[in-house]
Amino acid sequence: MAIVRTDMPVSSAETQRVIGEIVAKYPFVRTELLTRTVFQRPVSTLVIGNGPRKVIFSASHHANEWITTLILLQFAEEFAEAIASGGQIYGRNAGELAREVTIYMVPLVDPDGVDLVTGAILPGSIQYALAEDLAQNYPAIPFPDGWKANLLGVDLNLQYPAGWEQAREIKFAQGFVQPGPRDFVGRAPLNQAESRALAGYTRFIDPALVLAFHSQGKEIYWQFGGLFVPGAEELGQKMADASGYTLANTPYESGFAGYKDWFIQDFGKPGYTIEVGQGVNPLPISQFDEIYRDNLPILVIAAAGG
Ligand SMILES: [Zn+2]
Repeated sequence: MAIVRTDMPVSSAETQRVIGEIVAKYPFVRTELLTRTVFQRPVSTLVIGNGPRKVIFSASHHANEWITTLILLQFAEEFAEAIASGGQIYGRNAGELAREVTIYMVPLVDPDGVDLVTGAILPGSIQYALAEDLAQNYPAIPFPDGWKANLLGVDLNLQYPAGWEQAREIKFAQGFVQPGPRDFVGRAPLNQAESRALAGYTRFIDPALVLAFHSQGKEIYWQFGGLFVPGAEELGQKMADASGYTLANTPYESGFAGYKDWFIQDFGKPGYTIEVGQGVNPLPISQFDEIYRDNLPILVIAAAGG
């Protein structure tokens, strides 16, 4: 019986339920608590495989991109089931893949924000009122559907020390000068629990590759600045060919201070932002099956390294 439900938006509690049940059902899957948010929601990992190659897959750096969390949860369950049954995943022997690679997943980087957008934080509650208050500075952004940040109003994917000052300059010029629903870079890089925890985890794991899932646009971003990462374009093209997504250049105004930017800069290894699906965030859950079908090959190619 399926553990992951793909017929409804996901919350922090639902993510924890799924992680708990996957770990209970498949003893070779592990979980760790990376940190807790200011509002005490857990940021957890899901780790599968024990191979020497290490990769980190993250999702939902942005609250209204919660559909990306379901991609990683679904992948974790499918991969674990394939390992347990001696089966295949996207045409590869799952057991062999699990001996080649260790996949460290962080399926929900922004649990506070996701709970706001998907309704787990109820109107009238203190946390809802706090967010509403920050949103009032940005009346043009729909509330809570336009919310990307954490509940302190910081955009977690503008927190990484890779051109953070440029990101700050660009976003301030666009009017994002204080905490709000999106695009506020924070008072300093990595001053939020969630981004600091993911950066620390990444340094500790020292992976060969990272994927960061966002929505939307059906594009794969693979560059940061003018840095050349050997093999990154070729691998990105392979993921693009298998998914039908486009390997693209990051738009200039969102080209700084992201997780993959920092990874490329500090590790000199392939890091990708995957912009899944098409439409206005939050994407409807009805798009999930198509999104998962498109992204399964990306996950497997990234895990295997080719
Ligand atoms: Zn995003």
